[in-house]
Amino acid sequence: MKILLLGPPGGGKGTQASFLIETFGIPQISTGDMLRAHVRDKTDLGNKAKQYMDSGSLVPDEVILGMMSERLKEDDCKNGYILDGFPRTMPQAEGLDLLLSKLNQNLDSVIVIKVDDDIIVERMSGRRVHPSSGRVYHVKYNPPKIENKDNETGDDLIIRIDDQEDTVRKRLGIYHIDTSPLINYYNKKGIVHSIDGASDISEVRNSINQIFSGE
Ligand code: ADP
Ligand code: ADP
Repeated sequence: MKILLLGPPGGGKGTQASFLIETFGIPQISTGDMLRAHVRDKTDLGNKAKQYMDSGSLVPDEVILGMMSERLKEDDCKNGYILDGFPRTMPQAEGLDLLLSKLNQNLDSVIVIKVDDDIIVERMSGRRVHPSSGRVYHVKYNPPKIENKDNETGDDLIIRIDDQEDTVRKRLGIYHIDTSPLINYYNKKGIVHSIDGASDISEVRNSINQIFSGE
């Protein structure tokens, strides 16, 4: 099962990926989480990526494709995976096709999560994350059990610096220009399922479950 979650920043990809991990027992591959780990560990790749991420720009395609070509070869990808936040540009989509053909693999489903920009801006202002696991919360829509603490570890939650409103608006602009053409690209392959991502978390989860139960 190879699933791609496509949607705007803050559209709910990470939140829904965590449910798919449970359902299918396959890993989530989030380029955002991978990049943030590189930044935290101050690797060469992380040092290169940081300025782009903080300002809400995309990290260059060749950096992302290099990172993903290594990741998809790993053992835990054998039975499938959930791609979250990659590909985000046409060159990345074409690069992914090349990687997949070398690995003799195909994407099974592209789930497009649709959410209007104004809803996103509101959501991002309440997003809180647990940096080391990537677990994501919302102060109103998905609050942790104890205020500002991760449910599993009790660690403090943080606000991402790229979740400030002006940076979020910039990321949305980039999404509309660079990423949304991918919907048409995958439509031509006949593997796209579009869902309304504006409803609450459990309703979105149900819509995604229905895709896989064939309803
Ligand atoms: P969100 O979950 O809000 O969509 P991500 O965590 O996926 O954000 O990404 C955070 C940042 O990491 C992006 O703004 C971008 O700078 C960088 N990034 C993540 N994935 C990619 C990618 N596939 N291509 C280029 N940059 C990326
Ligand atoms: P993405 O991975 O696409 O950037 P996230 O899953 O991190 O998106 O969600 C962004 C923020 O919105 C988080 O704070 C999350 O808890 C919250 N959220 C996700 N889905 C919904 C929803 N359907 N309704 C309300 N808030 C949501």
